[in-house]
Amino acid sequence: MSIANTGSPSPTSHLFNPLFAQPEGSPIRELFPYLSRPGMLSLAGGYPSPGLFDAEGLQQAATTALQQDAAASLQYGASEGQLPLREALAELCASRGITCTPGDLLVTTGSQQAFDLLVKVMVAPGDPVLVEVPAYPATLQTLKLAQAQVVSVPTDEHGLDTEALARLLAQWPHARRPKLLYTVPNFSNPGGTLLPASRRAALVALAREHGFAIVEDDPYGELRFDDRCEPSVYETGLAQCGSANPVVYLSSLSKTVAPALRIGWMLADAQLLRRCAIAKQTADLCTSPLAQNIAAHYLRSGRYAPQLQKSCAEYAARMDALCSGLEAALGEQIRFVRPAGGMFIWAQLQPQEGDHEALSRALFAAAVTQGVLYVPGKAFFPADAAKQAGLCMRLSYAAPTVPQINEAVERLGRAWQQAVLS
Ligand code: PMP
Repeated sequence: MSIANTGSPSPTSHLFNPLFAQPEGSPIRELFPYLSRPGMLSLAGGYPSPGLFDAEGLQQAATTALQQDAAASLQYGASEGQLPLREALAELCASRGITCTPGDLLVTTGSQQAFDLLVKVMVAPGDPVLVEVPAYPATLQTLKLAQAQVVSVPTDEHGLDTEALARLLAQWPHARRPKLLYTVPNFSNPGGTLLPASRRAALVALAREHGFAIVEDDPYGELRFDDRCEPSVYETGLAQCGSANPVVYLSSLSKTVAPALRIGWMLADAQLLRRCAIAKQTADLCTSPLAQNIAAHYLRSGRYAPQLQKSCAEYAARMDALCSGLEAALGEQIRFVRPAGGMFIWAQLQPQEGDHEALSRALFAAAVTQGVLYVPGKAFFPADAAKQAGLCMRLSYAAPTVPQINEAVERLGRAWQQAVLS
């Protein structure tokens, strides 16, 4: 349950940091109250399917962590992370084609913390940060609190548009140069797109030319539905720039094992990693050593790969159900690209005419009445670009079952008819 915003005066309100005077919560978390309505079906959250949690495997890993390493599991640990987990994560990276050693890697409390630390270390108020748009909302939220100047980079059905980025950089309109560029190249949130290798190479070349760092956020790369797999931007950076690699790689066990472990990690050069480790000292001292040791034993148990295979098969079936359901319920009135992995479909409704913003509000209200939730597109745009969201929406197929998805799209179809007629 979220903490209520009652509007009643706070005895400490005159002491708030101005950044928190009128705070806006995560637009996705703000949808939580609707979820508790009886019978509501949600295509909104990016939650993994509860049926795909390997509780038995994690229970065995927890028992091992407490039997074999009770002292290390229950004690404070190094801010950089426990060595057994860093070793296991370096191996996981190797299986993704990423060359690294345990020393190149900082364990974080979810990859959300990795991004937060990176922004603390690199971004001063007013610094421009390039962000692919539509963007993961927590990234926008982090940058807003850091008082960064968010500069949108357009995307298309293949992800970040590197040609548009090149044009933007060539005619850079701001006084300060960009520091960072944030992208989710594998099955992005919310776009569901997979960035082609040629664009990854072009992106690294632009970072090199213009002197910014790339944040490659990769929580979804292993959730693939076919053989398509592109080289990581990190590895592309290593190949092009060697030790001057401008890419920082972030990943997470949240989508493939369990979000509750809160295990994420960052791969970066030693100087940057050291500074992020220092920033982490003031954030939480260390990521839970118990969670780290459970994760390390789990990754070593041999259960990760078969579980991942199961997840990919299940998510592919759910994605199929959602795509076919949308086509059946909305036909020509909806456009989307079938994702080749991940958890999301980015869809755009195509009304004949009318005020898109008003229609978008009417659709959401009708959807709630019909008993289906999605995330309206504007959650994924910086405030000054919210108009671009039009009638876009993010739909997730990860958590609902196929019968629930079938019912949810029927409800969405009815909501659309209701909104168009209203
Ligand atoms: N990046 C992206 C693109 C995400 O979708 C998410 C989770 N929704 C995160 C980062 C944060 O994940 P974690 O649970 O590892 O903090």
